[in-house]
Amino acid sequence: MPGEPQDDCLFCKIAAGHIPATIVRETDTTVAFRDINPQAPTHVLVIPKVHYENAAALAAAEPAVAADVLREAQSVADDEKVESYRIVFNTGSGAGQTVWHAHAHILGGRGLEWPPG
Ligand code: AMP
Ligand code: ZN
Repeated sequence: MPGEPQDDCLFCKIAAGHIPATIVRETDTTVAFRDINPQAPTHVLVIPKVHYENAAALAAAEPAVAADVLREAQSVADDEKVESYRIVFNTGSGAGQTVWHAHAHILGGRGLEWPPG
């Protein structure tokens, strides 16, 4: 079924608590945890608990959960006391996507260049 946990998915395992992560927030539909290879003083990933391979697939199938991810991004920023931050959804390997479970990178705590690389 669409959205079902995948046995071979790292972020499904983190969402299920089967692999440890530094979790900073959790809701019924989302988990937020620190990126293991941070690119900024604040670098948190917000994931839906349901499995979709990217943000667009999530939004198409479960738009309310996609909105939950965006709301949680703001809550992470509030918790981290970062006024300005960037939300990144790498989509496709050419854009640097390496984990095929939708996730928002929340980056803040330093100056962020525009346009990004
Ligand atoms: P992306 O490259 O956009 O698919 O993002 C995947 C992110 O997951 C990368 O920034 C990785 O550093 C991060 N990552 C990979 N494994 C873990 C892990 N076990 N715990 C936390 N973050 C992870
Ligand atoms: Zn998954």
